[in-house]
Amino acid sequence: MKRIAILGSTGSIGTQALDVIKANPDSFELEVLTAHSNADLLIQQALEFNPNTIVIANENLYDKVQDALQHTDIKVYAGANALCAVVEMGTVDMVLTAMVGYAGLQPTIRAIKAGKHIALANKETLVVAGQLITDLAKAHGVNIYPVDSEHSAIFQCLSGEFHNPIEKIILTASGGPFRGRTAADLATVTKAQALKHPNWDMGAKITIDSASLMNKGLEVIEAKWLFGLKNEQIEVVVHPQSIIHSLVQFEDGSIKAQLGLPDMKLPIQYALGYPNRLKSDFPRFNFMDYPQLTFEQPDLETFRNLALAFKAMEQGGNMPCILNAANEIAVSAFLRDEVGFLQMSDIIESCMAKVAYIANPSFEDYVTTDREAREKAIQLINN
Ligand code: NAD
Ligand code: MG
Repeated sequence: MKRIAILGSTGSIGTQALDVIKANPDSFELEVLTAHSNADLLIQQALEFNPNTIVIANENLYDKVQDALQHTDIKVYAGANALCAVVEMGTVDMVLTAMVGYAGLQPTIRAIKAGKHIALANKETLVVAGQLITDLAKAHGVNIYPVDSEHSAIFQCLSGEFHNPIEKIILTASGGPFRGRTAADLATVTKAQALKHPNWDMGAKITIDSASLMNKGLEVIEAKWLFGLKNEQIEVVVHPQSIIHSLVQFEDGSIKAQLGLPDMKLPIQYALGYPNRLKSDFPRFNFMDYPQLTFEQPDLETFRNLALAFKAMEQGGNMPCILNAANEIAVSAFLRDEVGFLQMSDIIESCMAKVAYIANPSFEDYVTTDREAREKAIQLINN
């Protein structure tokens, strides 16, 4: 029995993780649920799964959640500090980080310091502070299991290859809803169009990141830290069908790939259940439904965010933190119709040029960098 805490249980990953846990009652026990502001769904989940403790990050909603659950034994807390405290509970074995954005950094650090294994969906944490997080995990003997489908694919391909060096990895990208479009096309695309992903149904932020290819850029940086790779060992190929989830090439030239239908429940279940493959009734892949699997070069000139992410990774230090903060602000402004699709890249590029570079950032430096990059991005939007 693994006792699980889910940070972000009301989101796309969180709700699918609950489906996995529900289908495997002999393998998992739910200890902690947390959400930001979807109190109704959090209450419903708490009543259904009866966890030990829940946290609503938005403190204004504490009374509502507490009132709804006062007839139960479930402990209810509110606020960002509570979120960091619950991951340290002695009854938690593994923390699934399924919250979105930089807000995942602090609770992930606290969980690692408390010796909890991490099932990592919150890629922003590794983008912002990959060195710090991987060093901490090593120091505390904590494993970080990837949930992101591409990284799960690589992790699965590496099974049994412990002593065999990786020559390179190839991350697949669907290309998103705007694959093949020109910059002129992208200048006028709408929020509604960007929110329609061809293959995956995900939260709003990652869906916009997928349309701009920033998601793939964040995943390149995530892969660097998860698998201890040099920058030049990471490639991206566009594969519109999203059936091959990623590939590893070894030093003998052999390539291993992991395939399956695009369904996040599989990588979620693999991360939670590792090293066991639990039996599932997920729909099976049929080759006859996909007679052609195709591949293309990513268009780094049109989709500048991917090029900016590669650049941030090469510059290292706090640059990926700047990239991430500027992107979070740009995406939320795009979702409020305050900036156009292409302006998102302009904002990120400007922030990367203007926020102070730090080669070897401490945790405090990341906090300062994140704040400065957000302020700079907001200034750029308001001007
Ligand atoms: P989502 O927006 O659907 O859900 C986010 C969850 O985090 C919600 O439960 C929300 O309440 C919580 N949350 C948001 N901000 C918070 C804050 N400041 N404090 C506390 N809780 C907060 O997002 P999602 O699509 O499930 O993505 C979650 C993470 O997983 C992201 O980092 C994303 O990049 C990654 N990911 C998602 C998918 C996918 O298919 N959705 C695939 C791969 C990776
Ligand atoms: Mg992914």
